[in-house]
Amino acid sequence: MLIDNHGRTINYLRLAVTDKCNLRCFYCMPEDGLNWLSRTELMSYEEMLRACTLLVNMGIQKIRITGGEPFVRKDIMKLLTAISKLDGLHDLSLTTNGVLTAPHVAELKAIGIKSVNLSLDTLDSGRFFSITRRDEFGAVMATLDGLLKHGIEVKINAVVMEGKNTQDIIPLVELAKELPVSVRFIEEMPFNGDGQIHQTKMSWDYIRILEEIEQVYPDIKKIQDPAYSTAYNYHVPGHVGDVGIIAAYSRTFCGTCNRIRITPQGTLKNCLYDDGVLNIKDLMRSGKNDATIKDSLLNAFNNRVKDGLEAEKLVKNTGMHESMAAIGG
Ligand code: SAM
Ligand code: SF4
Repeated sequence: MLIDNHGRTINYLRLAVTDKCNLRCFYCMPEDGLNWLSRTELMSYEEMLRACTLLVNMGIQKIRITGGEPFVRKDIMKLLTAISKLDGLHDLSLTTNGVLTAPHVAELKAIGIKSVNLSLDTLDSGRFFSITRRDEFGAVMATLDGLLKHGIEVKINAVVMEGKNTQDIIPLVELAKELPVSVRFIEEMPFNGDGQIHQTKMSWDYIRILEEIEQVYPDIKKIQDPAYSTAYNYHVPGHVGDVGIIAAYSRTFCGTCNRIRITPQGTLKNCLYDDGVLNIKDLMRSGKNDATIKDSLLNAFNNRVKDGLEAEKLVKNTGMHESMAAIGG
């Protein structure tokens, strides 16, 4: 078991396999995209698999594949299949925008993926275009349909943004009336890659999001949060699915943080808000053996910051303007 210097279990890795994306979500990256990483800057699949193997041997039990958009990277199913076979890994899941995902759903089911996080900020195709700057609403809904038909658990991630989609909060809650989905509303974080913070203060924090839902559903009930949950979970009586609210900017969940991240270029992040503590790809490419890399990882885990607010204070680079696609949200 991996325990950090604050006594927190580390058992969850989020691996971002690319920074590239086929959408341009307003809250994540500029309309022109990012300065995409070159092929040599990216970790190869062999390097990713080696990192995952090492970390699973050390105590990681759950891996989430994210990005950028995982399905934009060529042959992603090969990596997913290889990771799914790791001994000791209990849970492999992924986060996707759903644009290219539908044709892979049957294979995802076949390799044992039980849960997929699907990003969907609105149920209105016009607003979908205005938020993502791409006309792909139909493809995303086809993925939702395919996932549910294959019995894969779906969590819908919706970032709540003033002036963009607050009118979608109630329709998204209503989606869980008939469908067995967990709709999770996320506070917008300042990782939009354009060097500008969209809002000087958090106008739609987790408290306001809940108040908005309570106005229409006053009988919404708090339910038990699973261990290590970043979401506060709720249930509307009579609905099939649930509602979650993730205080991603308020950072109320750091005390039980069980997660680490590896960015597409191999940087280990102990916290979403830090600017990286170690580069695993560089260690591998300089010929370090597994035992040495393991020692470096253990050292990093013994020096984790207490919470995201402390991590943010220590950031040296322009971390706050980084794109979430380059971090692996
Ligand atoms: N492309 C995939 C997708 O959109 O699902 C995976 C990567 S995306 C960076 C992962 C998650 O981060 C998405 O659910 C997205 O909504 C969320 N995200 C991106 N930028 C964000 C921001 N500035 N604030 C809050 N959440 C953000
Ligand atoms: Fe792409 Fe996901 Fe970022 Fe949207 S949130 S631009 S889909 S990486």
